[in-house]
Amino acid sequence: MRSEPAGDAPLLPSGGEPADATDPAFETVRPGQPTPGRVGRVGPGADEGLADPGEPGRRQRHELWMRRALEVAVTGPATGGPGDGDTAVEDVPVGAVLYGPDGTELAVGRNERELTGDPTAHAEVLALRRAAQRLRRWRLEGCTLVVTLEPCTMCAGALALARVSTVVFGAWEPKTGAVGSLWDVLRDRRLNHRPEVYGGVLENETSAVLRAFFR
Ligand SMILES: [Zn+2]
Repeated sequence: MRSEPAGDAPLLPSGGEPADATDPAFETVRPGQPTPGRVGRVGPGADEGLADPGEPGRRQRHELWMRRALEVAVTGPATGGPGDGDTAVEDVPVGAVLYGPDGTELAVGRNERELTGDPTAHAEVLALRRAAQRLRRWRLEGCTLVVTLEPCTMCAGALALARVSTVVFGAWEPKTGAVGSLWDVLRDRRLNHRPEVYGGVLENETSAVLRAFFR
């Protein structure tokens, strides 16, 4: 659904510039420029550039799936193996669930960067890997990735490469988010695969889990 850029003047190229803005659509992304998703952080109803939240049925499904992702985030494997004692660094509680086209839960992932010492062990990447292993293919078309926190650049890139059809995330991540906050990788019109994106789903609950961790 294309939205008219009414009232969001700061994000819009004013008349005549830039010359290379061949596509005047609101969600056009230019390097170094704020992306439309930034305004989406304002709150419900302000999510220009995001997919239409749609009928109640879809919203309810997304919220149900987000609750499952939250469950994965907070009940992940205990961090710090035996003997690590107080020196163990806990992983930030981020959970992801990958659903198949029919809504079947294919795989889950929880951020395990500290647990495994792997810089790529983000929840989304782990869920993608496990689902791909299970399906024995790297293409995850028709699938929906649900994650409690706005994906980073790595995960957004991985989601695009996996051809995931829909991405649903909870809390916005203004410092590193790559799905509307700092970058907008998934809706960059230069890419040929752009998943539908729904951001800020159960934002209060998902933010609360992170705040509690960092407190
Ligand atoms: Zn990530």
